[in-house]
Amino acid sequence: MFTSVAGRSVIVTGASKGIGKGIAAVFAAAGATVTITGRDEQALVATAAELGCDWFAADTSDPEACAALAATVVERHGGIDVLCANAGIFPSATLAEMTPADLAHVMGTNFNGTVYAVQACLPALAASGHGRVVVTSSITGPITGYPGWSHYGASKAAQLGFVRTAAIELAPQGITINAVLPGNIATEGLLGLGEEYRAGMTAAIPQRRLGSVADIGNAALFLATDEAGFITGQTIVVDGGQVLPESPEALEGI
Ligand code: NAP
Repeated sequence: MFTSVAGRSVIVTGASKGIGKGIAAVFAAAGATVTITGRDEQALVATAAELGCDWFAADTSDPEACAALAATVVERHGGIDVLCANAGIFPSATLAEMTPADLAHVMGTNFNGTVYAVQACLPALAASGHGRVVVTSSITGPITGYPGWSHYGASKAAQLGFVRTAAIELAPQGITINAVLPGNIATEGLLGLGEEYRAGMTAAIPQRRLGSVADIGNAALFLATDEAGFITGQTIVVDGGQVLPESPEALEGI
């Protein structure tokens, strides 16, 4: 049992629902002091009450909001040991219809927002002596593609390019940074894509189920432990085997 996150100060961005909420729940159960963020204050209040954690409203695509988040958590909880940079959006737009504003919105939230959150927390993570950053990327972009998500996939692949160089820069300060690549996870956001999408994805997963938010939370928790301290700049795919079949026939009869 990994116990080393007990008492540590953890920020999870985009945690009023979905994967972020699942990550926050796993860290809270492990005894960490968790602060969740998002833009919708009402949703944050409800989730924080449910999980027994703190909250701070912040749009992570805004560097000033990220700075305010980091300063507030340091003031309230004495520091930041772990940042789970999870906030993200996945609107669909084919290349034929995508506008510059669509592209800027997705990159600004998913990629720039990840960088801003990490930058804002850096001094506190360094002061922690065992700083940890866990980025929520995706299989979509780094490994797979899906029509309508060229901008989304690019933003998720961009996070990995960032992680690899950040890992080198942050190593001397004792900070590790890694990424979790979820497959299809049953979140409010994903279920909002409709029954046809859900059924198609379930059929494409060798384990024949969507992932749970706890599946991602547990991977993030491991990367945040002292025991994972020699792992940095790496990725863990958590997808029930979805990226493995070479063709649809590989799943027939299993
Ligand atoms: P979700 O259910 O839609 O939840 C997204 C969360 O992020 C909400 O709490 C939302 O709250 C917050 N958020 C969105 N934009 C934000 C911003 N600019 N600043 C701060 N918070 C923001 O989404 P999800 O499915 O859990 O996805 C979470 C992450 O996992 C994303 O990075 C996504 O790319 C990744 N992912 C998901 C799946 C999946 O199957 N679900 C698969 C691969 C990767 P507010 O709207 O109130 O801000």
